[in-house]
Amino acid sequence: MAETPPLDVLAIAAHPDDVEQTCGGTLIKMAQAGYRTGVLDLTAGDMGTRGTPEIRLQEAEAAGRELMLAWRGNMRFPDARLENSLPARMSLAMEIRRLRPRVVILPYWEARHPDHYRAGELGYEACFLAGLKKLDEATEPHRPFKVLYASLYANVTPSFVVDITEQFERRMAALFRYRSQYGGGPGSELFPAEREIRERLAAIARFYGNLIGVKYGEPFVVKETMRVDDIVSLGVRSF
Ligand SMILES: [Zn+2]
Repeated sequence: MAETPPLDVLAIAAHPDDVEQTCGGTLIKMAQAGYRTGVLDLTAGDMGTRGTPEIRLQEAEAAGRELMLAWRGNMRFPDARLENSLPARMSLAMEIRRLRPRVVILPYWEARHPDHYRAGELGYEACFLAGLKKLDEATEPHRPFKVLYASLYANVTPSFVVDITEQFERRMAALFRYRSQYGGGPGSELFPAEREIRERLAAIARFYGNLIGVKYGEPFVVKETMRVDDIVSLGVRSF
């Protein structure tokens, strides 16, 4: 397969439109900082009641442009019955080797939708496998340096929150590129469903932003302890 420059950040998610809700602001912010960002959706949303997989893939492309992604792909694993199987882990590991991300963002490991927690588990195990030399002698091993879990819908205390105040509107614009999911029809500007979704996501982003003293934020969990070298420059005031 063609050589591509390594990604700085790769978000792996179960469905197109997941990252637009959970970590899209952070992806935009990183792209604006000059990093190469990518999204790998595991399914095309075949089981969704609205739209077809082909439409959702086109919408994902358009949303990816709003997110300023350098790359977006789709594994086309079966939707709503995503399995952490050996073939799935292997093909995902091979894709991680090809993309060589330094940071991988995964869905938090507990969720209501089985696809979401399986995507987290599958992503973690594929990242590990990708670093095994003997997995496939024809390709270079690669193991991401850091795994972050996007915990927006998990209702757990985040390890850290990213300020996405400047990126929030662009993230909403990316989400509304999924016209088949959120639109009511052509012509009108703001559908009732859109308004409801916007209010809900703004409220969640405000909640997490408030934790770090900014307007909008996106939460993440890391399993390792965060290292600090300069306690004088620590952000977020205590009083
Ligand atoms: Zn989803």
